[in-house]
Amino acid sequence: MPELPEVETVKRTLNELIVGKQIEQVTVRLPRIIQRPDDIHAFAMELAGHHVTGVERRGKFLRILLDGLVLVSHLRMEGRYGLYDRGEPVEKHTHVIFHFTDGTELRYKDVRQFGTMHLFNSGEDLISAPLYKLGIEPLDEAFTAEALRDAVGSRATSIKAALLNQAYIVGIGNIYVDESLFRASIHPAQAAKSLSMDQISRLHRAIVDTLSESVAAGGSSVKSYVNGQGQSGSFQHQLQIYGRKAEPCIRCGTAVEKTVVAGRGTHYCPSCQPVPTM
Ligand SMILES: [Zn+2]
Repeated sequence: MPELPEVETVKRTLNELIVGKQIEQVTVRLPRIIQRPDDIHAFAMELAGHHVTGVERRGKFLRILLDGLVLVSHLRMEGRYGLYDRGEPVEKHTHVIFHFTDGTELRYKDVRQFGTMHLFNSGEDLISAPLYKLGIEPLDEAFTAEALRDAVGSRATSIKAALLNQAYIVGIGNIYVDESLFRASIHPAQAAKSLSMDQISRLHRAIVDTLSESVAAGGSSVKSYVNGQGQSGSFQHQLQIYGRKAEPCIRCGTAVEKTVVAGRGTHYCPSCQPVPTM
C-alpha cells in the first residue's frame, strides 16, 4: 500500500504533469470508485470545464484542486495515475479517464479496485469525511517533538499501534513505522504512554528523517507502487529493518526478528530495540 512518501511523490509528479489543463469530459468505467456524488453522471458533469490549479496531499489522500472544486482521491492498494495522449490504447483496469482539452488524458488504473474519489466544492473537503478526522501531518513544520507527544504520548496502546492510527498522525504505515522505531531504538510493543520525552524526541527525529529521505528517493517500491509517471521509487534499497528478517542488524549484527504487533508483521532488532521493562 502506498504510504505518505509514495503519495507525496505522486502529488509532486501530478503537479508537474496536469496543472493548467482543462477538463473537457470525464469517463467513468467503474462507478464504485466514485463515492461522492452518488451519481457518476453528476460527477462527470460537475468536472467538465474546470481547470486543474494544483495538487495537494492530506495524509494518504490526494487533493486535486479544480478552480472551485476539490477531487479527493485515495489510491488504496494499487491505484495509480498516468498521463496519456488521446488515442493511446486504454489499458486493462483503467476505471476513470479525465479527458483534457489539449488532447491528453489522465487515466486512473486500479487492479484491486479499492481506490476512491470524492468530489467536493472548495472548502468542504477538509471538514467532511473522509478527511476531517485525520491527525497531524508529519512533514508539516508544525510537527515537533511536542506535537508528537501530544498526539500519541497518552495512549495506552503500543507505540506501533498509535503511530499507525491515522486519527493521531497521518501517512505512516507499516514500513515507515518499523523503520522509524528501529532508528529511534524503541521496541514496537512498548506502550505509547510509557515513552520518555527523550524517546519521543528520538522518534520524532527518526520519523522526519525516514519520511524525508524516502520522499527524496521517490518513495519505496515494495510491491507494485509506481508514481504518476510510471516510475518506481528507490527507497526500498535504503530500508534498514523492514523486510530484513533473519539478516544481521546493520548496527549491531544481531539477527533481525519478525513478530506481530498491532496485528501487523513487525521487524525489529532484539538488541537495539530491547523489550521495555515495565
Ligand atoms: Zn541491532
